[in-house]
Amino acid sequence: MPRWREDEIIATASEHGRPAVFVCVNLQNFKPFNILLGHQRGDQFLERVQQRLTEIGRSWRTGGDEFVTLAGGKLTAVTEQVSAFTWLFHVTIGATEAWSFRFDDQRKAAIVPWRSFQVVCTPRCGFAELGSDVSGSLHLARRQCDDIRQTDPDALRPSFAPLATGPWTNEKKLATPICPACGDGQPIVIEDDLGWSRERCARCDASYERINVLSVFGEESEAGYM
Ligand SMILES: [Zn+2]
Repeated sequence: MPRWREDEIIATASEHGRPAVFVCVNLQNFKPFNILLGHQRGDQFLERVQQRLTEIGRSWRTGGDEFVTLAGGKLTAVTEQVSAFTWLFHVTIGATEAWSFRFDDQRKAAIVPWRSFQVVCTPRCGFAELGSDVSGSLHLARRQCDDIRQTDPDALRPSFAPLATGPWTNEKKLATPICPACGDGQPIVIEDDLGWSRERCARCDASYERINVLSVFGEESEAGYM
C-alpha cells in the first residue's frame, strides 16, 4: 500500500473511537476474473466492493483489488457483517475456449470448442481489533489477509474460505487438437505464439493457422493470454 495512504489510515484510526476493527480485503482471482468479465465491468465490480465496504465502515482502496475498512464495533459484530459481504461478492464466471482455423488455400473449417472452465472470484479478509498500537493493528490485519494466500482454506475462518488451487475450476476438456481438414492426422506445429500457431498436417498436408478464441457471455475475443 502506498506510504501516504497508510499514514492517512493510521491518522484516521488514531482519532477513531473504540471498540473498532481493521478489516483488510483483497479479491482472490480478480485478475483472471477481470479478463473474463471485461475491464469496464471489472471496474464497476470494484466500485461496488468499495461501496459495500463503506457501509461497514470508513474504507480505502489501497491497491488494484485491495481495500482497508475501519469499522466501529466489536469484532464479532464486524465479522458478521464482513461475512455477509464476502457472500455477496462471491462470484463464479464461466468461459469456453475454442479454435478457429485459417487455411492457406481459403478452405473453411467449423470452430471447435476445446475447453470450458470457471473462475471464482472471492473476497479474502483479515481482521484485527484496533489497539493502542494503531500501526501494529493495521499490519496484523494485512498479514492475516496475506497469509490466506498460502494457508489451508479450512483455517481461514472467520473470513471466507477461498479456492485451494489456481484460478481455474471445473475445467472440462472438449476436444483434442486434430487436423481440421481431414479430421484426423497429426498436426505439426511450425510456429507458435500466445494463443496462435501455424500448423501442417502430417497426413493430408493441409497448412493452416490455429487461433484460440475465448467466449464469455457469448462474446468472442482472441484469447492470446490463456
Ligand atoms: Zn489433415
